[in-house]
Amino acid sequence: MKYDYDLFVIGAGSGGVRAARIASLAGARVAIAEEYRIGGTCVIRGCVPKKLLVYGAEFAQNFSDAKGFGWTVGNAVFDWASLRDNVQKEVARLSGIYTTNLHKAGVTPFEERAELVDAHTVKLVKSGSELRAERILIATGGAPQLLDGLPGLEFGISSNEAFLLEKFPERILIVGGGYVALEFANIFHGLGAKTRIVHRGDRMLRGFDDDLRAHLHIETERTGVQLTMKTTLTKITRAGSALRVTLSTGEHVEVDQVLFAIGRHPSTHGLGLDRAGVKLDPSGAVVVDEYSQSSVENIYAIGDVTNRVNLTPVAIRDGHAFADTIYNKRPTPVDHRSVPSAVFGRPPIGTVGLGEGDARHSHGEIDVYRSNFRPMRNMLSGNQERTLMKLVVDRKTDKLLGVHIAGEDAPEMAQLAAVAVKAGLTKKQWDSTVALHPTAAEELVLMRERVPGR
Ligand SMILES: Cc1cc2nc3c(=O)[nH]c(=O)nc-3n(C[C@H](O)[C@H](O)[C@H](O)COP(=O)(O)OP(=O)(O)OC[C@H]3O[C@@H](n4cnc5c(N)ncnc54)[C@H](O)[C@@H]3O)c2cc1C
Repeated sequence: MKYDYDLFVIGAGSGGVRAARIASLAGARVAIAEEYRIGGTCVIRGCVPKKLLVYGAEFAQNFSDAKGFGWTVGNAVFDWASLRDNVQKEVARLSGIYTTNLHKAGVTPFEERAELVDAHTVKLVKSGSELRAERILIATGGAPQLLDGLPGLEFGISSNEAFLLEKFPERILIVGGGYVALEFANIFHGLGAKTRIVHRGDRMLRGFDDDLRAHLHIETERTGVQLTMKTTLTKITRAGSALRVTLSTGEHVEVDQVLFAIGRHPSTHGLGLDRAGVKLDPSGAVVVDEYSQSSVENIYAIGDVTNRVNLTPVAIRDGHAFADTIYNKRPTPVDHRSVPSAVFGRPPIGTVGLGEGDARHSHGEIDVYRSNFRPMRNMLSGNQERTLMKLVVDRKTDKLLGVHIAGEDAPEMAQLAAVAVKAGLTKKQWDSTVALHPTAAEELVLMRERVPGR
């Protein structure tokens, strides 16, 4: 036989595992290589362990809110080692399930790094064996960026290491302005660390609706996390058992940990894609069409390595669509519009569709509806956290273009709002839904007044 496999998948993360399983179940001979742990970023060092740590961090606020509801909570003590180890146990369990599912689907896993030799040949780096496949799927995801060239960079960590810290830091400085930086600030602050974010931009969460960004800025500061914008790091040095960080303002800060969360880059370095002639964009992402096909006919790429929408459900959709297109003979282009997303900050964000600025840019005349309130739960507790809800509507068609929420359970609400935005519902249809009382979400269908001047 000309090829050892019909399909060789490089990277057993969210996208790669899904594509491999569906292709194999459709009858293809499939192998998959993973250089770290099966499950990929989301399961091993992304969404899953992060959300578990967020749950852990939320107890602090709940303990403090409890008094208003008549509870006296004794001296609550947090133990990092217990939380860390429990999270890792869960991660290992899930990774095991992913591995079992690959075997059950008939996929051959290789737990080592793979690189391309040419457009049809993959080399397994540790064992040195070379395997030929009719098609190759690049599903290598992304990796954290670091502040290359920063003196003392080696003293910092990325999100990869944050889950495994030996000792919980009493003081942490987080560098970056994206959702990962904000989520880790929420986690470390909630678990008791003195937390500071340093970001070179003037506001966190670029790409999100501007009102949400402003709201999160105010609310994050209210929790006690220190936000230092328009500032970078110039140096990190050791100071006994601590670290001394020098900021671009000249300020020196002593902390126990520095966490870089300044973005991620596609994992294509050293993969041998040049040997196969695969075209990359300037960020190093594999350039693909709507069927995830690269510039080389038999090589495809899905998920974060294509740097389209870098979220787990999107990587899974990409992988499934690829396998359906090729192996189930059901051509399925990927649709990356109206993908909901969440930020597990304080308060959490749930959002879908266009922000006000983007909507105005693409649709011209829009209407904006907005509500900013202190939710019922916070009245008894004395918690000052406020909720923001915002709808962006196309004035011409009355279609909902975006739903943006910052408040308790916002990610849960956004998943359902996404159904309406994706289906192209009008504001009139949205408003015809009767409110569910008493919830915070009911406010979403009760916003009648346009924000004037918008
Ligand atoms: C801290 C953090 C939190 C996140 N939170 C969320 C969230 O809440 N919700 C959400 O939707 N998304 C979240 N994400 C993003 C999400 O994890 C990714 O979008 C998703 O994992 C992408 O899947 P993928 O299949 O493209 O790549 P990955 O899951 O990254 O899988 C790629 C795999 O390829 C392996 N690999 C790389 N090169 C090779 C090679 N040469 N040979 C063999 N194996 C290789 C890697 O080890 C990795 O396991 C988060 C990410 C991070 C870092």
